[in-house]
Amino acid sequence: MILILKPQADALKVQRLMDEVQAQGISIHRSQGEHTTIWGLVGDVTRIDINRLLANDVVQDIKRVSEPYKLASRRFHPEDTHIKVGDVTIGSGFFAVIAGPCSIESEEQICQVADAVKKSGACLLRGGAFKPRTSPYSFQGMENDGLRLLLEAKQKTGLPVVTEIMGMDQLDDFKDVDIIQVGARNMQNFRLLKALSKINKPILLKRGLANTIEEFLMSAEYIMAGGNENVILCERGIRTFEPMVRNTLDISAIPLIKRQSHLPILIDPSHAAGINWMVEPLAKAAIAVGADGLMIEVHNDPKHALCDGAQSLNPAEFDKLMADLKKRVDFEQKIRQ
Ligand code: PEP
Ligand code: MN
Repeated sequence: MILILKPQADALKVQRLMDEVQAQGISIHRSQGEHTTIWGLVGDVTRIDINRLLANDVVQDIKRVSEPYKLASRRFHPEDTHIKVGDVTIGSGFFAVIAGPCSIESEEQICQVADAVKKSGACLLRGGAFKPRTSPYSFQGMENDGLRLLLEAKQKTGLPVVTEIMGMDQLDDFKDVDIIQVGARNMQNFRLLKALSKINKPILLKRGLANTIEEFLMSAEYIMAGGNENVILCERGIRTFEPMVRNTLDISAIPLIKRQSHLPILIDPSHAAGINWMVEPLAKAAIAVGADGLMIEVHNDPKHALCDGAQSLNPAEFDKLMADLKKRVDFEQKIRQ
């Protein structure tokens, strides 16, 4: 981190600032120019509060030269992280497909979809029991009954399950869930992230609708900083000026995040596209760009789905997509060898 002092800064105040910075375990490399004094702050600067320093009247400017996250950063952890959920590995060369309905609607629905996606090669089952809907009048999910049905489908198929948590008060109810999803709308719910940092379960963290990559990685850092390093990221599209898609899939986020972080990252083409015919090309793009897997919405009867039917694939469409993806994953892996 580089700190630039104001010209003719009061010597006493500068000394006080120096003491304050050094007291945080940071060493200062001074560079004295004719008009400007620059300090290079060396050490763990992740805890430095830039705004607090900028408020100091001897400070002219501060620039970060390293990222503000540490545990999520590849700089401190060069190897790819992979996360194990039962027999399934996510990341580090293993391509995982999570599939299932947007929301759990009945026993028949979740069990049929679970069977179908398993047969097609999905290794995890998704299904929302608590749905974060824009309108309070829309279907809110089957809640605890939905959770029970999801766990029943897990028992029947052996597929580990992923479902979204809405608040920290639900942690006990989620104890048999294999991966807890933090949805886009909760990406910066810091109290929730801190509560999830204290458990030992993988967390699927979705990127917020209008969050930068740095903010995304800082939210991962929240979970890791409390001791839970099992974080899987998920790019699900961001809000842009383009109205023809539900969200704009930020495909560049994948290589950028892969460079910055060792954490696995999935793509959710369903929420990015908002329309089912676009799921296939975006899923293929995920492989090409180096994502570690996909999360895809599949419904046994999309036309009558209570949530996100327009973007859901039916089991036959999903099966066809999986057959196509398998060829591509093999092809990509051969190229990489
Ligand atoms: C979901 O996965 O069902 C969901 C609500 O996604 P997002 O948080 O990305 O909108
Ligand atoms: Mn959905």
